[in-house]
Formats: sequence, C-alpha cells, structure tokens
Amino acid sequence: MPEGEPVDIAGDGLTTKERRLLPALIVNTGEGKGKTTAAMGLALRAWHQGWSIGVFQFIKSGKWVTGERAALEALGAEHERSGTGGEVEWYATGAGRRWVRKPGAEPGHAHAAREAWAEVASRLAVQRHQLYVLDELTYPLIWGWLDVGEVVATLRDRPGLQHVVVTGRAAPAELVEIATTVTEMTKRKHPFDTGQKGQAGVEW
Ligand code: ATP
Ligand code: MG
Repeated sequence: MPEGEPVDIAGDGLTTKERRLLPALIVNTGEGKGKTTAAMGLALRAWHQGWSIGVFQFIKSGKWVTGERAALEALGAEHERSGTGGEVEWYATGAGRRWVRKPGAEPGHAHAAREAWAEVASRLAVQRHQLYVLDELTYPLIWGWLDVGEVVATLRDRPGLQHVVVTGRAAPAELVEIATTVTEMTKRKHPFDTGQKGQAGVEW
C-alpha cells in the first residue's frame, strides 16, 4: 500500500477523514440533570467551527431568557458583527407563554410543537444549518403531539452533513435506534428531591 494511503479498518469503504465527517445524531436522555446543558455545550463547539446553529425549544422555558439563550445569541451577534464563529438562530415555541409539562395541558402547545417541527423539517430539507439543537423534543414525541415515525424518518433521511442533538427524558426506542450517540443521564442526586428550588445560573 502506498505510504499515507488511508486504511479501511471499519470496512465501510470510507477514509478516516470521510468517517470523521459523518453526520451525528446525538440523544441526551435519562432522568438526571445535564441533558440541555450538554447540548448547549455542543453548540459552543459548533460556533467555534463557524457552523450555522439552529436551536429549537420544543417546551418553552418558564424563564424569559435562559443563560444559554443569552450567551448563544450574543455569540450569534458577534458572528454578525465580526464574522467570528457561526450564526445562531434561536427558535422558541409558544413565545410569551409559560409551558406546562402535562400532556394536553393546552392544545396550543401541541400546535406550537408541530409548527416548530415543521420548521425543523423544512430547514433540514434545504440543509440550512450544520447543527440543530432540538431541545426537549422527546416530550412532544412521547405525548403524541408529533408522529414518532415521521420525525424519525425525517431525521434518518436528512441530507448532507447536518448534525442533530435531541434532548429530553424517555427518548422513544425508534429514535435511539437511529441515533449515532445516546447518553443516558442517570440521577444519583438532585437538590430538588430535598425541596431545594431551582436557582439562577444552575437551572437557567
Ligand atoms: P439542564 O437544563 O440543567 O441541563 P436537563 O435538561 O437534564 O437539565 P430537564 O429534564 O430538561 O433536565 O429539566 C430541566 C430542569 O429540571 C432543570 O431545572 C433541572 O435542574 C431539573 N432537573 C433535571 N433533572 C432532574 C431530576 N432528576 N429531578 C428533579 N429535577 C431535575
Ligand atoms: Mg432539558
């Protein structure tokens, strides 16, 4: 073999470089804390790569602006100003309303989740972003607001090199099946269990 020729160890016909550029579908699930914060950490890495980032919140935070939103939008503004890093687009569903985490709590929530998903699907089709953060997507899936088969097929068949990270508890098996990386956050301890309230900078 000529020197420097890539070795096809995985037997998939791809070079090491090609294999490094495979689209990732990362699922952060489980009961423990850290699913959303890990996804936002990934977005920081993506920003540094100059990637276009789309963040979609499927369950609106009770807080008007979370730290991750403020920080990533500031980074997006920096990109606009100086060209450093990547662009950041933040899509929050049900803007201005407080979300209640209960199935059927408000029909508008299901509608907003479907609108958000339609936006993601149309962007995936035209390869709008290089990283999609689909925060709390598992809830509209397990509550039946979105069709699991349709969402899974759209993610599986997405064109090009578009990375996706999905967060939320109880990720459906079909989603886990097509993911490239699945991390289950296991709760060992959480201060809420002893009655502590959420705190700024830690929870939002
Ligand atoms: P974070 O946004 O801090 O990364 P997360 O995305 O893993 O947390 P979610 O299920 O989205 O967790 O819930 C978000 C909120 O619920 C946060 O305030 C978080 O601290 C809290 N939380 C996370 N895990 C637990 C748990 N096991 N018990 C109680 N509260 C939790
Ligand atoms: Mg979360």
